[in-house]
Amino acid sequence: MSKILIRFDDVAPGMAWSKFIPLKEHLESLGIRSILGVVPDCQDQKLNVEEIKPDFFNLIRTYRDYGDIIAQHGTHHNYVTQDSGILGINNFSEFAGLAFEEQKLTLKKGKEILLAEEVWQPYFMAPAHSFDTNTLKALRDLDFHALTDGYGFYPYIKENIVLVPQLTSFYLPIGLGIQTICIHINALSDSGIQSISNFVRKNQKKFISFKEAIEINTGSSIIPTSLRILSKHILRAKRKRFSDK
Ligand SMILES: [Zn+2]
Repeated sequence: MSKILIRFDDVAPGMAWSKFIPLKEHLESLGIRSILGVVPDCQDQKLNVEEIKPDFFNLIRTYRDYGDIIAQHGTHHNYVTQDSGILGINNFSEFAGLAFEEQKLTLKKGKEILLAEEVWQPYFMAPAHSFDTNTLKALRDLDFHALTDGYGFYPYIKENIVLVPQLTSFYLPIGLGIQTICIHINALSDSGIQSISNFVRKNQKKFISFKEAIEINTGSSIIPTSLRILSKHILRAKRKRFSDK
């Protein structure tokens, strides 16, 4: 049976709380823990779609106490390069393409904000899924352990960081491995939220926590490695076809 993780990108003070809070309460009623991609110092105005919550970090501490994973989602969520990084998904990034020291400095700023708010955990979620080898090295230097991104259906290790795969915003019924459903709540319609709510209710038993996922160590065995390479080629070809239109 395949296992599922759920992650929320763009958790920031001005996010779509009117959509997020009911969905989050629904997940909690089912005992499901989420990965929350928290932006330490949001400077991306596109993420402000509702009234700013002044008690933002109080809420994050509540979620942390519930057992959600807090993943540092960049630092400012500003796109400063046109580099798509290792995964080659989007051609914009807060990190990929920058020098190691510059990346480390920005990451450290974000980490210090989260530490001061007592919500830092050693997990990372790259804005736009875009990071490069220097990002991974800087994360390792700053004592990060894992990030939510990557091809395939099993966690793997790159530059001493565990990559827990994230492929699509929906579930692929392949019957094995781990999949991470990625939710951009600001852009979700009411019907989209309804279908996610129905999906989590029906699949409640398949959900695991991020920490459980990290512990699944497959080494370099042949099936996970083949699936990773296969998913990379299929998704890249699919994205290329769409971007060609
Ligand atoms: Zn984002």
